[in-house]
Amino acid sequence: MSELSQYLNSKGIRPTAVRILVLRALQQQQQSAVSMADLEEVLQTVDRSSVFRTLNLFLEHHVVHQVEDGTGQTKYALCEEKCRCGARHEHLLSDFHVHFYCEHCRRTICLPDIAIPNVAMPEGFTLSAANFVLKGTCAACQSRVAQSKNKFD
Ligand SMILES: [Zn+2]
Ligand SMILES: [Zn+2]
Repeated sequence: MSELSQYLNSKGIRPTAVRILVLRALQQQQQSAVSMADLEEVLQTVDRSSVFRTLNLFLEHHVVHQVEDGTGQTKYALCEEKCRCGARHEHLLSDFHVHFYCEHCRRTICLPDIAIPNVAMPEGFTLSAANFVLKGTCAACQSRVAQSKNKFD
């Protein structure tokens, strides 16, 4: 059995050809969150509704988490081993990590090592999701900018 099938099994998902294709496509994003449209472009052989159903299944089983980065498109990123988005029913803010939206390359990147700071919820409020998005220039774009500056010095 392939590594990807094993991974899906370990998450309680029966591996199918489509699920493995979607998982592989997500893995190739290297911590970047992608939209449905991005995935469809990569997975041209898979029909739209299958991609959609697979993403929802992955969400339920905490293979991916959702990111609302302010672009108006819901994005999906693979949960890392330390991702605790599915750890419990009653979420704490610190179960969610921070995301970074790069204004240059327009990628939305998971920062799994940075938990959202805990805020005491007012009484009677329960938390189901949290989106903490920082915007700016990612490391890759930063070094590109620095390089092009050097060229003209
Ligand atoms: Zn960037
Ligand atoms: Zn993330």
